[in-house]
Amino acid sequence: MSATAENTFDIVILGGGSGGYACALRAAELGLSVALVEKGKLGGTCLHMGCIPTKALLHAAEVADTAREGSQFGVKTTFESVDMNGVNAYKDGVVGRLYKGLQGLVKSKNIDYVEGEGHLVATNVVEVAGRRLVGKNVVLATGSYAKTLPGLDITGKIMTSDQALFLDHVPARVVVLGGGVIGVEFASVFKSFGSEVTIVEALPRLVAAEDEAISKQLERSFRKRKINFKTNVKFSGATQTGDVVQVSLESGETIDADLLLVAVGRGPVTAGLGYEEAGVTVDRGFVLANDRCQTNVEGIYAVGDIVPGLQLAHRGFAQGIFVAEHIAGLNPPVIDEMGIPRVTYCDPEIASIGYTEAQAKEKFGEIETYDYNLGGNGKSQILGTAGFVKLVRQKDGPVVGVHMIGARMGEQVGEAQLIYNWEALPSDVAQLIHAHPTQNEALGEAHLALAGKPLHAHA
Ligand SMILES: Cc1cc2nc3c(=O)[nH]c(=O)nc-3n(C[C@H](O)[C@H](O)[C@H](O)COP(=O)(O)OP(=O)(O)OC[C@H]3O[C@@H](n4cnc5c(N)ncnc54)[C@H](O)[C@@H]3O)c2cc1C
Repeated sequence: MSATAENTFDIVILGGGSGGYACALRAAELGLSVALVEKGKLGGTCLHMGCIPTKALLHAAEVADTAREGSQFGVKTTFESVDMNGVNAYKDGVVGRLYKGLQGLVKSKNIDYVEGEGHLVATNVVEVAGRRLVGKNVVLATGSYAKTLPGLDITGKIMTSDQALFLDHVPARVVVLGGGVIGVEFASVFKSFGSEVTIVEALPRLVAAEDEAISKQLERSFRKRKINFKTNVKFSGATQTGDVVQVSLESGETIDADLLLVAVGRGPVTAGLGYEEAGVTVDRGFVLANDRCQTNVEGIYAVGDIVPGLQLAHRGFAQGIFVAEHIAGLNPPVIDEMGIPRVTYCDPEIASIGYTEAQAKEKFGEIETYDYNLGGNGKSQILGTAGFVKLVRQKDGPVVGVHMIGARMGEQVGEAQLIYNWEALPSDVAQLIHAHPTQNEALGEAHLALAGKPLHAHA
């Protein structure tokens, strides 16, 4: 590599997604010299293939439902059709504006942005596009990819979210393989766009990582929306004939579809990048890191989806910022994974933080729970949504879990995370005044009730 230019930085970051670029921005703010290496588009999965485009689709889906349901509110509307070119133009416009903004932000800082596929060639060296970037510290942030199942090739009408984001038509029949976050979000979009949807999930319930009561309510709501789902059932294969995919289940049942969306999770992008050769411990492809995002190799950090845990953009941001501050010697507090808010943006939305009832019982022993039904919440009634706010507290102690479901309830996760992270008692929250009529009031009411002074609640 004698012809290779060599530069030295305080931090070399491999991957410019949520985790990588957040680290770069914070490090630059702190006066550290930074190289940020990205082989695709700055912003990564979240901006281009994940959070933002899917939420734009979900918003278009909500508009379609509003057009259909106008008469419920005495407004005469008719739903005509979904023009996917129009939807894609809207979605791509949102992504494009944010992308431009992010590029400008990175340019405005003292960050050496390097385009190309990088490899870790020594514990402190990333090689990319003919350059050797030497880092006093190296941050691995190469993200994740959509997985499939053995023998299930992603081709034709069998897609992952990567292809399903760019459809030019609404498929008549969709099978969604996987009832996790990405699966139920897409199922919700397709149903609103007019597809007949069937979710196939091997686990006993949809969104199985959530509190059981949330899964039950989602299943009730999906039944009402006529979104079909089969739980506890294993997929056995799929064949494509012409434009039709036939999906087979281990039960012997088959389902014909015009699109099979494979949403069975995301694997880490770590293979062939030199991590293991540099001595970094990798477990089933994931990079193991401690609560300071340090790998087993001194000076090498890992952030975002490549580290086992919640695969969420804001976790990546937080870890990226953490690492920059740690390297700058600011001694930031470690991140509590349970204190990371989780939102699933299907209709109805799900928002949660902290421990589920089952997890809390296991961790704390004696607990109390309270479910506040949105039936008593004025704004939710105005919107015509069903759902609840469920609180989990340690017996006579702080709230350790908040679980919410209902239209737009994702917006309530902000207060829920303050409650969890500040270890608030129900009585602490009960004395805060929540504006009427908002859905936020439902959080206040739940805490009033758990503090023993219910207002618009029967128990
Ligand atoms: C359909 C979908 C919907 C989602 N919705 C949400 C949501 O609503 N909210 C939420 O919080 N999260 C959501 N996520 C998850 C979120 O997108 C990820 O958690 C987040 O993007 C992880 O950030 P990251 O930095 O770890 O990885 P990524 O964003 O994947 O970024 C990694 C980057 O590294 C680059 N890279 C990889 N290898 C190399 C290399 N060798 N050299 C140079 N560059 C490289 C890639 O090109 C990529 O840009 C969603 C994901 C999907 C797929």
